Amino acid sequence: RPRVLSGIQPTADSFHLGNYLGALRNWVPMQETHDTFYCVVDLHAITMGHDPALLRKRTRISAAQMLAVGLDPERCTLFVQSHVPEHAQLAWVMNCLTGMGEAGRMVQFKDKSAKQGADRTTVGLFTYPILQAADILLYHADAVPVGEDQRQHLELTRDLAQRFNTTFGRTFTVPQPFIVKDTAKITDLQDPTAKMSKSSSTPNGLIELLEDPARAAKKIRSAVTDTGREIIFDPEQKPGVSNLLTIYSALSGRTIEELVAAYDGKGYGDLKKDLAEVVAEFVKPIQQRTNAYLDDPGQLDKMLAIGAEKARAVAVPTLRSVYDRIGFLAPG
Ligand code: ATP
Ligand code: MG
Repeated sequence: RPRVLSGIQPTADSFHLGNYLGALRNWVPMQETHDTFYCVVDLHAITMGHDPALLRKRTRISAAQMLAVGLDPERCTLFVQSHVPEHAQLAWVMNCLTGMGEAGRMVQFKDKSAKQGADRTTVGLFTYPILQAADILLYHADAVPVGEDQRQHLELTRDLAQRFNTTFGRTFTVPQPFIVKDTAKITDLQDPTAKMSKSSSTPNGLIELLEDPARAAKKIRSAVTDTGREIIFDPEQKPGVSNLLTIYSALSGRTIEELVAAYDGKGYGDLKKDLAEVVAEFVKPIQQRTNAYLDDPGQLDKMLAIGAEKARAVAVPTLRSVYDRIGFLAPG
């Protein structure tokens, strides 16, 4: 079976529909066809400043949501990144193979650091994509199911894998991005040209899996739509309406064409009202299941400990062979 690795940051009290439609949703069926490793990437979550108690809480909430959308610890390896110290250890080696200029070209760093300001931007945020490369290479992943925003980081991962292999001998699998075009970029409800994001969207720009459906309905109602009144799919000219159609289609299983035909002659208000209902129906069972997992944190932590053991069974030998190839003296 081909191997898959992907991760999500515990940087908010809830995942949003971009996370779900761009990534999580694809992780579920891959459990049947791939050897799957999914992690809550807490090391990444401390790159922008954080609160310790909140991080601990969000790490559990993240794991609970992953289970609630259909990840099954019997069929995948679900773990917390910091439970597997080899991520940080391999990241150091990868840091030493990455050029400053190369890392400096990463668009996510430019965006996030510009928003934070130079004084508050950490070196950790700068080397974030290199840690991400380590996450992936540690497991010899063949495929990495992510949203469009991660394409450039995947390209860096591939370059680093190839560089290591050429310099020190074949060690790493060069991974392929797995990006599902239709839902690769869900946009912000208030700014339909920007991606929906846990850390940079305003609350009104997000539809969260765990929020009260009435609140989500209100946000959908006030979503920025486009001039004109026709409901058509045109991401260039009508990014707002097109984003709503994309979400509607993905959650309902109806094609965009079907929806466009069904809303012929109707207004944006009708579309928004119906979408809010679709969202409410969709999130209800996810919220119930998430709460059930959170009701028993001891059980959740035990499950994550088992996941970490399974992950380390792959990560430890990979790091050992990397240390050997680069010439670190084995401890006597
Ligand atoms: P942050 O703002 O903290 O970076 P995020 O919303 O970007 O949070 P991540 O945890 O960084 O979420 O990413 C988890 C996964 O969700 C990644 O695979 C990423 O590509 C995907 N993803 C994030 N936002 C979107 C989006 N708007 N559309 C599609 N996929 C997305
Ligand atoms: Mg992100």
